[in-house]
Amino acid sequence: MLKDAKRVVVKVGSALVTNDGRGLDVAAIERWATQIAALQKMGKEVILVSSGAIAEGVLRLGWHSRPDQVYQLQAAAAVGQMGLVQAYETHFRDHGIGTAQVLLTHQNLTDREQYLNARMTIRELLRLGIVPVVNENDTVVTNEIKVGDNDTLGALVTNLVEADVLVILTDQRGLYTADPRKNPEAEFVATARAGDPALEKMAGGAASSLSKGGMITKILAAKRAARSGAGTIIASGREEDVLVRLANGEHIGTHLEPVSYTH
Ligand code: GLU
Repeated sequence: MLKDAKRVVVKVGSALVTNDGRGLDVAAIERWATQIAALQKMGKEVILVSSGAIAEGVLRLGWHSRPDQVYQLQAAAAVGQMGLVQAYETHFRDHGIGTAQVLLTHQNLTDREQYLNARMTIRELLRLGIVPVVNENDTVVTNEIKVGDNDTLGALVTNLVEADVLVILTDQRGLYTADPRKNPEAEFVATARAGDPALEKMAGGAASSLSKGGMITKILAAKRAARSGAGTIIASGREEDVLVRLANGEHIGTHLEPVSYTH
């Protein structure tokens, strides 16, 4: 899927970015920058959707756990986002690649004029060879109007820029038919059709013991991405050279192919 893709959205989750909440995983960020630089050399355009602002902010503020109050989460996001952009900018610079911060809200993507502006800006950044680093603008949105999780945001960005593939890097290998830690019969799903309702059942069962967004938001993100014809790959961000190997045609993780609507 990634081999033939021209425009790719790569989403990295909080657990990966912040080393399970221990602090920005600079080595991992450096590896993704190196891999994305390689993808660019293959002629691909890459947009990065990165979580981790709240987790990093909580650490930087010296708080011992994730707070409950929205204003505290918003403050943490604002603090942590600085760490994210600093790390991405530094490591992409090592490859001569510029980055750009793009903070979006659900409202930005539902208002026609704002949607078109965001689309035009990201397209121009890609034309300039810049890697847009996208996150939700957590500081200005409340729970009711949040996109909420970056799997969904990744899919919305995929629709926005009409990307060919959404790659969701996580701390799991991909999707299993059941939770592999509870059910020894669980089988790995290498390929499936995005939007297949059976996938939601598989992911639903496993969601409780998986990391924050869980597998279900990834399955729903794949369904959403398929609406603009994009395929989704769910793979481990800890797998060595995962993006480059995918781009070379290797099958790693779960590949969810877009359903073609013929009627
Ligand atoms: N926007 C949130 C953050 O950067 C992440 C949401 C998510 O983990 O999906 O902390």
